[in-house]
Amino acid sequence: MEKTRLFTLAGRITGNLFRKPATVKYPFEPAEYPERMRGHVENRIADCIFCGLCQRACPSAAITVNRADGTWTINPFDCVQCGSCVSGCPKKCLTMESGYREPDTVKASITMIKTDNDIKEARD
Ligand code: SF4
Ligand code: SF4
Repeated sequence: MEKTRLFTLAGRITGNLFRKPATVKYPFEPAEYPERMRGHVENRIADCIFCGLCQRACPSAAITVNRADGTWTINPFDCVQCGSCVSGCPKKCLTMESGYREPDTVKASITMIKTDNDIKEARD
């Protein structure tokens, strides 16, 4: 091996001995998600007008909007995190948050209900 290569290698080895590891000890330490990660969709239901544009924009039919009942439903297991619903929402009440939904034993959907004096979230 050339002398310069040997010095480069020795430098890297020494540097790595004192550097913080590039990996985290997940699941013993919480995972750190990048700020702009497309993790999951959240709806600030108080601002939603149930126009249904997000339902129409969704390529995987993960969203169902029922204006008459005042419900907005998402099946997180059908969502492919494309962000179409977020960019198409006229009230900007949809956001793409970092962090994945936790795994589950059933493919439950999440329904948000808005009435004149109440806001609720239900799973089925
Ligand atoms: S596009 Fe926005 S305002 Fe319209 S139903 Fe979807 S979340 Fe509500
Ligand atoms: S991010 Fe894409 S796939 Fe997920 S609910 Fe929105 S439009 Fe549908």
